[in-house]
Amino acid sequence: MKSVMDAKGLDTAEKYVNDVYNLVVSRNPSEDEFHQAVKEIFDSLVPVLAKHPEYMEQGILERMVEPERLVMFRVPWVDDNHKIQVNRGFRVQFNSALGPYKGGLRFHPSVNASIIKFLGFEQILKNALTGQPIGGGKGGSDFDPKGKSDQEIMRFTQSFMTELYKYIGPDADVPAGDIGVGAREIGYMFGQYKRIRGNEAGVLTGKGIGYGGSLARTEATGYGCVYFVDEMLKDNDLSFEGSKVVVSGSGNVSIYAMRKAKELGATVVACSDSNGYIYDEKGLDIDTVQRLKEVERKRIKDYLNDHPDAVYVEGCRDIWTVPCDIALPCATQNEIDEESAALLVKNGVKAIGEGANMPSTLEAIECFQKNGVLFAPAKAANAGGVAVSALEMAQNSMRMSWSFEEVDAKLNDIMKNIYSSCVQAADEYGYQGNLVVGANAAGFRKVADAMISQGIV
Ligand code: NDP
Repeated sequence: MKSVMDAKGLDTAEKYVNDVYNLVVSRNPSEDEFHQAVKEIFDSLVPVLAKHPEYMEQGILERMVEPERLVMFRVPWVDDNHKIQVNRGFRVQFNSALGPYKGGLRFHPSVNASIIKFLGFEQILKNALTGQPIGGGKGGSDFDPKGKSDQEIMRFTQSFMTELYKYIGPDADVPAGDIGVGAREIGYMFGQYKRIRGNEAGVLTGKGIGYGGSLARTEATGYGCVYFVDEMLKDNDLSFEGSKVVVSGSGNVSIYAMRKAKELGATVVACSDSNGYIYDEKGLDIDTVQRLKEVERKRIKDYLNDHPDAVYVEGCRDIWTVPCDIALPCATQNEIDEESAALLVKNGVKAIGEGANMPSTLEAIECFQKNGVLFAPAKAANAGGVAVSALEMAQNSMRMSWSFEEVDAKLNDIMKNIYSSCVQAADEYGYQGNLVVGANAAGFRKVADAMISQGIV
């Protein structure tokens, strides 16, 4: 690296990055996930900053790590036993340099400020990579939708929106789904927003097709991840055809990643939920998984009722012990640690595509890279969801809708473009083939340039 870049410039950039990182850690104590996301991005930016010292002079990193706004609010609701419950709601509006804040809402008991900030921070660069005019945001609640009745979900989401509506709007901030927030939750939230503010279709994405949703939004993150990985494989004379694939999770992203991988000729041998994983070397029946999880809201172990030949193993982390050619982590953050990564490498994995946000720890990424495993980082590989959300916003503004095929073709193009901009940026900064550096550098430059143009705000 130092041979192609001025060594003094690199030292200055490295010191700047370390100083700002230390500031983030001291200002945001106990926010481990946020620190991790900042570190992953910052480490890639040293060569970019060395080449463009104006970003340091303009204090871009100090400004970027500080959300424009973070709201936290009480969400009271009454359960089916007439007991009052209180959850905590969040919305982080991280960066609007490129457009209205955009990012999903997560309902999961683990949600706290650190999780929301890590997701919001990553979202800034992810959204920039899509080439769409959208800024970065994220939100959610520590509410656990699992085991709740439809009525409880509706009462909770209505209470949540009764506070959230004050901060969002079609040109201001446009939430979507994430873990625990699918079509049902978006529908209830949209209904409540409409009662308060009127019919502003563009305020949420991931809506039902009958009332302003976009065709192919449900499929977009999973399909997009496979489109991205497919580009990466082809570039390295590999393919999904005939490969063995393991996909963690069995939610929105996993189901459509499995479907597309299978369509491209792969055999999906394992998937999971938070309790355990199922395995069948002949290939899983994705229709059964989809019915169990999307329609019946059952557990993945119930797959064995339809397919007694499959194997169920308690404990979701062990899914990475299953040998495969391609691994698509599509469940949650930090699901692949160094030990799991080493095991995947030992079992011959050739490529990783991150469908979930930050599913690999920093040590796991290093292990993949050291061992020559192709690695598609989340902010590029899972950007298809937000890209199609931006297409949903466009359709809502124009009061028209595109066919499934049109949206799917646009998604495919967007994922190809993201792949080539990551490859080009990695080359430009001397890290050929390193898509982590490529994704961070390409996304960062768009946001940083827009921030400079808009002054110190
Ligand atoms: P879903 O709620 O539809 O599915 C999540 C899946 O992951 C479920 O199978 C769930 O199991 C499992 N899971 C959740 N939390 C954990 C955990 N702590 N440990 C183990 N397994 C867990 O969510 P999505 O599919 O929408 O999201 C999955 C990932 O993809 C997240 O990281 C999300 O941020 C990311 N993502 C999603 C996008 C989208 O468009 N939906 C866009 C971009 C990224 P169980 O049912 O047992 O909880």
